[in-house]
Amino acid sequence: MSVLEAGPKAKYLNRKWQVNAKHALYSNTGKFYRELTEFPGALFDDHGYIKFETETEFRDCPQLRIGKRVNVDKGGIAAIFGYVQKDDSNEYSSAVDGLIENPNDAPNIYQLVRARGDVQRAFKSALLRIYSSKCAFCGLSFESSLEGAHVKPWSEAKPYEQIDPRNGVLLCATHHRMFDGSGEITITSSYRIAYFDPLMKERRYTVADKALTVDLHGKLITRPKNRQLWPTKDFLASRHDSDGWDGTI
Ligand SMILES: [Zn+2]
Repeated sequence: MSVLEAGPKAKYLNRKWQVNAKHALYSNTGKFYRELTEFPGALFDDHGYIKFETETEFRDCPQLRIGKRVNVDKGGIAAIFGYVQKDDSNEYSSAVDGLIENPNDAPNIYQLVRARGDVQRAFKSALLRIYSSKCAFCGLSFESSLEGAHVKPWSEAKPYEQIDPRNGVLLCATHHRMFDGSGEITITSSYRIAYFDPLMKERRYTVADKALTVDLHGKLITRPKNRQLWPTKDFLASRHDSDGWDGTI
């Protein structure tokens, strides 16, 4: 088996779950793979795998369309008979429930999910629910483009603060970059969006540029229904300190 063919994630899961496949392929969606060429072979997603003992078994699987690459029918490999679920999703979802119901419990929940390497995933899952899967700035709702942004910068946050949903806000990838990387757009201490150039003097703006920046300036961010889950004033103050800004517009 070629190590390059397998990819690091497939190789890792093949070993971690003791699948012992000679050829292992991974896809995060569970829907598109290259072709398995050695057997036993296995296709992995983040939560489990399907193993084929022989090439015939692989080629005869009705949910696979095998051409240049392998397309899996709706539902991905998880919907194929024989799929082995490894992810303990009950334990994981109760951790996410815990973050939403009692964010003060973040230090304990952090310990629980850290062992599973799921800190960032649990943080984002909680924020997706809290913010109804929409960017708190612009309302974009493509889940693949939404990210959990930390209010107090990651590098300054204590470990458990990395998972506390009150230290987070759900943002689209563009707003996350502008919020984190450059601080071009941020949140005031009264939960309003602040854009650094509201008078449009610093650059030229396309219609889309303006819609995603200038037009949002001064508007309230989308805040969670439950006030307990709003970004805390302390976390906001840490962000403002780090940006050298007083947090007002
Ligand atoms: Zn956005």
